[in-house]
Amino acid sequence: MLIVLKKGAGEEALAELKRELERFGFRPHVSQGVETTLVGAVGKGPTPEIMDHFRALPYVAEVIRISKPYKLASLEVHPLPTVVAFPTGKTGGGHFMVAAGPCGVESREQTLTAARYVKKHGAQMLRGGAFKPRTSPYSFQGLGEEGLKILAEARAETGLPVVTEVTSPDKVELVAEYADMLQIGARNAQNFALLKEAGQSKKPVLLKRGMSMTLEEFLMSAEYVLAEGNENLILVERGIRTFEKATRFTLDVSAVPVLKSWTHLPVWIDPSHPAGKRDWVTPLALAGVAAGADGLIVETHPNPKEARSDAAQQLTEEEFAEFMSRVKALLPAVGKAFHATALR
Ligand code: PEP
Ligand code: MN
Repeated sequence: MLIVLKKGAGEEALAELKRELERFGFRPHVSQGVETTLVGAVGKGPTPEIMDHFRALPYVAEVIRISKPYKLASLEVHPLPTVVAFPTGKTGGGHFMVAAGPCGVESREQTLTAARYVKKHGAQMLRGGAFKPRTSPYSFQGLGEEGLKILAEARAETGLPVVTEVTSPDKVELVAEYADMLQIGARNAQNFALLKEAGQSKKPVLLKRGMSMTLEEFLMSAEYVLAEGNENLILVERGIRTFEKATRFTLDVSAVPVLKSWTHLPVWIDPSHPAGKRDWVTPLALAGVAAGADGLIVETHPNPKEARSDAAQQLTEEEFAEFMSRVKALLPAVGKAFHATALR
């Protein structure tokens, strides 16, 4: 349920309400607006009697049942957009970010080269997988901790924060030591043990939509992270399975406006994995931006032909530069603020 406090209800009333909610087994989640204070109470479905109990408190204006199955992710509980901030930029609430880099960390040279040029062309974050969740057990699985060390070196040199995938709950601590944001991939989007563990870490989380997940299921996965007290969460639409085989996945552009009407969390587009082919990456990114996305995560490789994963979809440096200039040209039309990386 959602509890709206009366105007002027002070700190003491809020503290008392929190204690009362906890006594009934609810987890309070305060959302402080300019005029009103909202308290989301998350827990097992409140009975009409319990709702009446809270309605009767002198400082309570209104008690509303949260209609959606996801609670903390909903705009009902949290009407203001969540802004996730990094030293190089912000996303959400009108702020736009680009994370770019290779699919996988393959070598020091490959990753440092990519980091330098993605920064030069304005990206605010470096991506790169050290643990790769591959469909085949015989494919390149990533460099593991050595890859994380290379990413940390790239960050030290360029100042770009790093987002990298974590594929199992027992690796969260290790990946969090090196990464600025934990990526949970499409194949793990309903790995609830992993979502909980990532929720418990203090690092921001980038959660990709599973390839066969409904948007409601996607937000239920987000709820696992939020329920652990981690509010720095970004959702990524990266393409879903449909009957169409021309592209690798079908980018569900409508996920952007739908999610933005249901949740306060920033919504990003990954144009690389649905395209599957470099020629289609930029148009899909532009479609996502036009639909209202708060950021992009895109793959680029200094020498895509030699990439050990996703070779066909990674942009060359030249293509990435063109990608950035087209994205930057579109952003003002959709009212998004973008500040390319400050060079240091
Ligand atoms: C990736 O970003 O390299 C990746 C594996 O993405 P997804 O989980 O969306 O397939
Ligand atoms: Mn990839």
